[in-house]
Amino acid sequence: MGQVHSEILPGRVQHSNMKDYSRAVDEFRWEDVERSFSWHGTGKVNMAHEAVDRHVQEGRGASTALIYSDTVREERYTFADLRERSNKFGNVLHKYGIGKGDRVFIFMPRTPELYFSLLGILKVGAVAGPLFEAFMETAVKDRLEDSGAVALVTTPELLQRVKRDQLPGLRHIILVGGSASEDPGLLSYEEEMAAASAELEPEWLSLEDGLIMHYTSGSTGKPKGIYHVQRAMIQHYYTGKVVLDLRPDDVYWCTADPGWVTGTSYGIFAPWLNGVANVIRGGRFSPQDWYKTIERYGVTVWYSAPTAFRMLMGAGEGSLQDIDLSSLRHVLSVGEPLNPEVVRWGDKFYQQRIHDTWWMTETGAQLICNYPGMDIKPGSMGRPLPGIEAAILDDHGNILPPYSMGNLAIRTPWPSMMGKVWNNQAKYDEYFRIAGWYISGDSAYMDEDGYFWFQGRIDDVINSSGERIGPFEVESKLVEHPAVAEAGVIGKPDVMRGEIIKAFISLRDGYSPTAELKDEIAAFVKAGLSAHAAPREIEFKEKLPKTRSGKIMRRVLKAWELHLPAGDLSTIED
Ligand code: ATP
Ligand code: MG
Repeated sequence: MGQVHSEILPGRVQHSNMKDYSRAVDEFRWEDVERSFSWHGTGKVNMAHEAVDRHVQEGRGASTALIYSDTVREERYTFADLRERSNKFGNVLHKYGIGKGDRVFIFMPRTPELYFSLLGILKVGAVAGPLFEAFMETAVKDRLEDSGAVALVTTPELLQRVKRDQLPGLRHIILVGGSASEDPGLLSYEEEMAAASAELEPEWLSLEDGLIMHYTSGSTGKPKGIYHVQRAMIQHYYTGKVVLDLRPDDVYWCTADPGWVTGTSYGIFAPWLNGVANVIRGGRFSPQDWYKTIERYGVTVWYSAPTAFRMLMGAGEGSLQDIDLSSLRHVLSVGEPLNPEVVRWGDKFYQQRIHDTWWMTETGAQLICNYPGMDIKPGSMGRPLPGIEAAILDDHGNILPPYSMGNLAIRTPWPSMMGKVWNNQAKYDEYFRIAGWYISGDSAYMDEDGYFWFQGRIDDVINSSGERIGPFEVESKLVEHPAVAEAGVIGKPDVMRGEIIKAFISLRDGYSPTAELKDEIAAFVKAGLSAHAAPREIEFKEKLPKTRSGKIMRRVLKAWELHLPAGDLSTIED
């Protein structure tokens, strides 16, 4: 393999503009991880080559890469298949003059063609921008406009939501599953692919060249365009090994859509850099469908999110009857805090400890995790990975002692740290306002064993009668109550106390929203947590407002409460 590279590539490239992540932390060096890559020492890389072609060159072309299913299709593709399809798609892009650095967006349901296109985009050195299929007109337009996308891969159904007349920079639209049309701006994916060559030399890039752009979930405000670069692969590969614990024979399933960072870092890159079979299940969530997916394909490693685990828990043990989940070896969660009650449910009904992992769109990959080989404290997001240093800082950058709540911060840099915030240098600089640190915007504390405990978003921390209360702790206690399905807690301004705790609650099936139940739930938190953490007001809601990635939007709850405008709602669920 090194052979192939040295033939194609000129000598060692200077790393002058690279972020220096080679700093050692506790004997750990990212440079040692870098040595597992064929490009080590050349500085010339291509994610799609590493995730796909390399396996073919090293004799694993016939191994299963993608196991796709939805209610009508069921298909398997090997690494050789992925190589061929992505080469073809790369050639289609070249034909229309698209290449290195161009932004090419994808707006379509999770089907194999999404994955072929995304890998093809990366092969030619373009920057991929996957958008979740449920986005409506304005959300799509804003993102295509902000990113300056030159091409879009979509479907005839979704094309209606693309305002082409308002996007002069969008030169080409490639329609998957569409018939040929007269419109010169519309290309047929099937026709173009049929005519394209299956051979393509990947664009060799530097570690600082672009990889992918993701707009954040919009939980706290207007989504930001986070631009990631090639060096992220070092951490995708490494965390795939040590956190996902991927081994050659694994059947891995990440339930996230590629429109969100988890769906690419861990739905594409980590599994394929590690050469593992990746299950993609199209269609909508239902407990039966998900459990059947695990059973049918013999999923061994499963990465999902608290919102899904809470819904599975809500479906009760009855939903597990006649289901065999014994293939599972390792289960992980990300996206929101993982309530201890959910961890206990996993222990009992999956015979699996659900491993919480903390990271963000901006961080590109996992940073603080529960990983195999460590003791898990339910409710804690775990410990910083080898190579990662985390701390709790006050607003001036002083490191706070254990058990003090403050800014969760990460020592800079690390390999998958974002390259920039697209079109917003000021926003980027805000994250790095304290020299040597990345300020996450999350609030947490560390215990004496070095475990981190998430408290809430910095802006969501509640100040009641001089006590600082993280909403997560209260919410976790609330969902322990048998009537409560989900809970979102906010601080409501109060003349006497500064703020009081108000809880919005959706009930489990079979419970009625009565005043007695409110009192009972408030008393339950008071007895189980503390008097000052008990909600003084409770409001029952049919559903809580959530992002399409499944996160409770506390800023919307707060806006409702205060009768204020709710702000950017482009990512809210129906
Ligand atoms: P926006 O930045 O647009 O407001 P967002 O922060 O929800 O949206 P993401 O990047 O998708 O966008 O989510 C990262 C955030 O999700 C983290 O900052 C954190 O608040 C939350 N999060 C992710 N994983 C965990 C976890 N394991 N425990 C607690 N919180 C988590
Ligand atoms: Mg965020």
